[in-house]
Amino acid sequence: MIPYGRQHIDEADIQAVVDTLRSDWLTQGPAIERFEQAVAQRCGAADAVFVCNATAALHIACLAAGLGPGDRLWTSPNTFVASANCALYCGAEVDFVDIDPGTLNMSLPALREKLERAQGQRALPKVVVPVAFAGQSCDLRGMRALADEYGFTLLEDASHAIGASYAGEPVGSNALADMTVFSFHPVKIITTGEGGMVLVRDAATAEHLRRLRSHGITRDPAAMQGPSEGGWYYQQIELGFNYRATDLQAALGLSQLAKLDGFVARRRQLAERYSQLLAKAGIGLPQSQALAESAWHLYVVQVPAPRRRAIFDALRVAGIGVNVHYHPVHLQPWYRRLGFAEGDFPQAEACYQRSISLPLYADLTDAAQDQVVAALLDALEHAA
Ligand SMILES: *Cc1c(COP(=O)(O)O)cnc(C)c1O
Repeated sequence: MIPYGRQHIDEADIQAVVDTLRSDWLTQGPAIERFEQAVAQRCGAADAVFVCNATAALHIACLAAGLGPGDRLWTSPNTFVASANCALYCGAEVDFVDIDPGTLNMSLPALREKLERAQGQRALPKVVVPVAFAGQSCDLRGMRALADEYGFTLLEDASHAIGASYAGEPVGSNALADMTVFSFHPVKIITTGEGGMVLVRDAATAEHLRRLRSHGITRDPAAMQGPSEGGWYYQQIELGFNYRATDLQAALGLSQLAKLDGFVARRRQLAERYSQLLAKAGIGLPQSQALAESAWHLYVVQVPAPRRRAIFDALRVAGIGVNVHYHPVHLQPWYRRLGFAEGDFPQAEACYQRSISLPLYADLTDAAQDQVVAALLDALEHAA
């Protein structure tokens, strides 16, 4: 089976983890800060906070944005459930903004219209989470202007997009977003096994995120109520979590980060190759927006909806590990219980009905890709 995604682990990665195992620190040691600084530097961010996964990163980023009961978070329905669940963890309400049928990202006109309506109803969001679907940022320039006009926090879920850029700036720089989240799950661009990161614009937010990552505890006398009682002393000054990642993960992340440019270059090459080989297949291919350079986490094609199931099944039978991104979040049973229903976000629903994600990862060979293309062309011709 050719999988839809997989990690690339080399001897340097293995050695980095083994070296950490032999060191004094398995967790909260020097590798954490080194990895945070390296990612911040690579992306041009002021600071970065490494946590156990991107779901946790989204949760504490929302808390740092002040999201709580009575507040609203809006995101794209075409995403992994974590982009929306982070609002529910904070006791806030979730709503969605439909997607652009070309880029499959949150639609800027749809966001603008929804904001205009929400303003009349005094129901504006506190946080908006655009998702860089498949590795390509949304229309962040337009969204920044709306964030300034309506006063919400722009939190980019760039779980798919480390190594991408937008308007000439690396994703994660927060040139336009207020905060950015990356995922280091093995199917993503670089991996730490499990892992996530919040990139921020200022030191105060980073400090708050680090406190939320570790139980809401501080050792900084300046942040304490009353005087410190000695060298052992710490205070819990808010409710945080244990969202820490280990030094083993950070060491792996540092080793992976050194390969990021190569990974993205190979993914881009494979994506271009798919687009050439499938140019005459009569199916929908990924569309780029002018300002965005994608990291190419996914290569999603659109086939006729009535035949999607048959084409998908034929590919699986042929040993091609295709996948579908995404079942719209608002149609998950949990979200239907909150009142969402079919027809709420028609573009995301139509996209779901037509989409198939083809295998794409740095180690995919041209020969394996040819096999995927041949199987797809065959399925397009024969699968009923
Ligand atoms: C993978 C993913 C997440 C969650 O990442 P984890 O590190 O597995 O928690 C969140 N949002 C999107 C869009 C993702 O693809």
